[in-house]
Amino acid sequence: MRSIKTVYKIGQGPSSSHTVGPFRAAKWFKEQHPGADAFEVTLFGSLAFTGEGHGTEKAIRRILPDAAVRFDLETQDLPHPNTMLFRAFRGGELLGERRIFSIGGGSIRWEGGIHHEEDREIYPQKTFGEMLYYCLQEGISLKEFIYRTEGPSLTPYLSTVWAAMKEAVERGLATEGELPGGLHNLRVAKEIYHSRSYNESSEVTMNRQIAAYAYAVSEENAAEGVVVTAPTCGSCGVLPALLYYMQFNKGFPENEILDALAVAGLIGNVIRTNASISGAECGCQAEIGSASSMAAAALATLYGLSAKHTEYAAEIAMEHSLGLTCDPVGGLVQIPCIERNTVGAMRAVDAVNLSRFLTGTRKISFDDVVATMYRTGKDMNEKYRETSHGGLAEIYRTPV
Ligand code: SF4
Repeated sequence: MRSIKTVYKIGQGPSSSHTVGPFRAAKWFKEQHPGADAFEVTLFGSLAFTGEGHGTEKAIRRILPDAAVRFDLETQDLPHPNTMLFRAFRGGELLGERRIFSIGGGSIRWEGGIHHEEDREIYPQKTFGEMLYYCLQEGISLKEFIYRTEGPSLTPYLSTVWAAMKEAVERGLATEGELPGGLHNLRVAKEIYHSRSYNESSEVTMNRQIAAYAYAVSEENAAEGVVVTAPTCGSCGVLPALLYYMQFNKGFPENEILDALAVAGLIGNVIRTNASISGAECGCQAEIGSASSMAAAALATLYGLSAKHTEYAAEIAMEHSLGLTCDPVGGLVQIPCIERNTVGAMRAVDAVNLSRFLTGTRKISFDDVVATMYRTGKDMNEKYRETSHGGLAEIYRTPV
């Protein structure tokens, strides 16, 4: 399994697979063809169907401003639902071409087995069960296992990631106005944050604050702001919302927040390795479900729960996200995405609370639920996998 650093990528929203991945692909392809005087990019599958609303063309044009960008809505039987074909020319002659796949979370794969540093496998284990076994044998916690495997470079990396997450929360809380894209959605994070009623219970205060933080980050993402994939841009509000709440409302120190981020990264990494974190491949269960699982593991770590309790919390959060479809209205990462980040964060809190009571009786392992999510995603009708052809995207019509 690769480093957990590859789970957390700092980049521009609104979609890790539709903006961060294509941006990185364009950058790599351009570097490979320094002599080219023209470029052509064809987008297939989900990138063609929702690429406009998700800002794919804009992301590519940041690197290749004059490229001819085509949207191929016809071709089927693609090797990956997020396929791109890059072509470089000089004097009208084809210099080179490459199919590149945006595989989720901002990661890309090249057709033809080209490998990148980020592909390097550093964990000998692949499943959560193998990692848990190792931890129990060695008598170490999950976070000790992660730091032992990743080495000393992990902490400064997580520190940078956490700084970017906090900035996204704070920018989102300070900004008002309409989100781009034409749905006329207003930003509401600031309003939620300040909407305390005089007789609000402590439980409602907690929910309101977590909701405000989740909205803040997701609205930043929808406005093409800088966010951190956790594990994707569409689901980038879930984990920071809980961690921000725990640091600034509950007083947890920075070093414990980084430990929680590490364990959440491990959970996201296991899901990415053994299933998928791409809405185009497995629906929203792969994005918000994964984010919720990661956040549950982070919270369990902050509460000092055992590795088994942490596993159970992550498993509950994913199990009850199974079947969640991806149906973004207008191809924008706004409805249902923004609100869903808040619901994902709340589900993570519930999952951790439930995991405290029931560990001894559970039957389903985290690896089982990850495998189930993947199969469910593959069985899901294509219109519910980030094509904007089904669900809310089909039913909802913008009022004129
Ligand atoms: S519905 Fe979920 S998977 Fe689809 S774009 Fe929105 S957040 Fe991503």
